[in-house]
Amino acid sequence: MEVINGKSVFGGIAIGKIKVYEKRDATVKRSRVEDTQAEYARFETAKEEAKRQLQALYDKALKEVGEVNAQIFEVHQMMLDDLDFTESVENIITDQGVNAEYAVATTGDNMATIFEAMDDEYFRGRAADIKDISERVIRILLGCEADLAESDEPVILVADDLAPSETVQLDKSKILAFVTRHGSTSSHTAILARTMNIPALIGVDYDAAVDGVMGAVDGYTGQFYIEPEGDTLTALKEKREEDRRKAELLRELKGEDNVTVDGKRIDIFANIGTVEDVSIVLDNDAGGIGLFRSEFLYLNADDFPTEEEQFQAYKKVLEVMAGKKVVIRTLDIGADKQVDYFNLDKEDNPALGYRAIRICLTDHEIFKTQLRAIYRASRYGQAAIMFPMITSVKEVRKIKEIVAEVQAELRASDVPFKEDVELGIMIETPAAAVISDLLAKEVDFFSVGTNDLSQYTLAIDRQNDKLEPFFDRHHPAVLRLIETACENAHKEGIWIGICGELGADVALTEQFLRMGIDELSVSPSMVLKVREKVRSLDLSK
Ligand code: PEP
Ligand code: MG
Repeated sequence: MEVINGKSVFGGIAIGKIKVYEKRDATVKRSRVEDTQAEYARFETAKEEAKRQLQALYDKALKEVGEVNAQIFEVHQMMLDDLDFTESVENIITDQGVNAEYAVATTGDNMATIFEAMDDEYFRGRAADIKDISERVIRILLGCEADLAESDEPVILVADDLAPSETVQLDKSKILAFVTRHGSTSSHTAILARTMNIPALIGVDYDAAVDGVMGAVDGYTGQFYIEPEGDTLTALKEKREEDRRKAELLRELKGEDNVTVDGKRIDIFANIGTVEDVSIVLDNDAGGIGLFRSEFLYLNADDFPTEEEQFQAYKKVLEVMAGKKVVIRTLDIGADKQVDYFNLDKEDNPALGYRAIRICLTDHEIFKTQLRAIYRASRYGQAAIMFPMITSVKEVRKIKEIVAEVQAELRASDVPFKEDVELGIMIETPAAAVISDLLAKEVDFFSVGTNDLSQYTLAIDRQNDKLEPFFDRHHPAVLRLIETACENAHKEGIWIGICGELGADVALTEQFLRMGIDELSVSPSMVLKVREKVRSLDLSK
């Protein structure tokens, strides 16, 4: 038995087989080959394997998300057989006497450049597909495929780090816990663990040889056990049982009010990333959805989700929530949430860069497509729209202009929608908190994104695990900014919630209630814990 110490980002006990996910270096180098025929044959074998993988993805998508969404995998298979593609690879290998990886990468880049320069929007969109199929073949040639999704039994997933684009591919029913070498408390892997209610550790210096052996994660102590045995294993199993009992007790709070002993009420909503998360929200009896991170619809796709695809997703969430409020946040791509087909430039400071509302206010078509989808879906429940990364009144006014355009266009085409959808903004930059008196005059609600608000206020990159020792989660600067926003919201008669991770920190629940925060939107698994805390407080004392 071996024990490795890490840092817990979510509690709980998991016992099961370890699966190490290794991202091997997929950088392509140019090298000379003697036998070009054999090299081309190597390409053909990799191409066939890529087609096999795509067929498997097609079959899975057909079952889970339907024909329309599955079609892309069929198109990719056809593109792999396209003569322009294969002949270009063959010519580069034979004319230049180089390796297949280099030939595929060059072909992919050249064809993508040609597509990107076309006038027709459909063909421009194919550039991302060409890149995608080239990368798949290259990964196979280099022997560094992502095998995240494939596992027969539930596993403890161990990785260097996990990007949001990787976690969206996971079959969540197969994950018992996350263990990563890097990552931070407010990283998206940590948020995902909280949503799934499974333990997660970061800062664990593991050895890749643990792949396939039995392991255990103690999300309370931050310990990762390799081949736990004897008394340790028995104690871990008892702790896991104890957790189950506590969860049962918490479930007795289902249906109860979020009210303090002296009668102060607060809304407790939940945060979601995907349509599938809604069932966990209902299971935990949340009063609504306070943050639907819509960018996961984009992260989960090979190309921009169409208006229709988005409309179906929002409609489904609204219908299942049956009249309860659903706050849909417009896309928050950029920083740690990267999507290839957005073709964003590499930036030195992505968290301070071209992201979220800045993309939407630059590329109105992306923004309007999403807004149209939300407005069309608004008839099916109680939708609200929230805009991320706001720093100025000017941005909010511009957003409202674009919203008005979208509404006018829908009206002109006789598309029904609700006129009174609430519009709110995230308070997640210090600038927004400081001018919250001005912003409160412009919108219907605020929701404080404490993950980014802490990052920007304390100058602590939320992705950088080295900064953990400097990160004071309860820093008075952040709490004062929340209080300022709360006072200013109420002066203008609008509501204010907290949807960042701090909202679920029960050590602060009393302070938030005393400030007058109206809503806390937390990971679904935290709803009942926060309710328990609220019901234990007496603010009259
Ligand atoms: C936040 O910043 O607190 C937030 C809720 O948004 P995200 O974590 O998605 O950036
Ligand atoms: Mg944020």
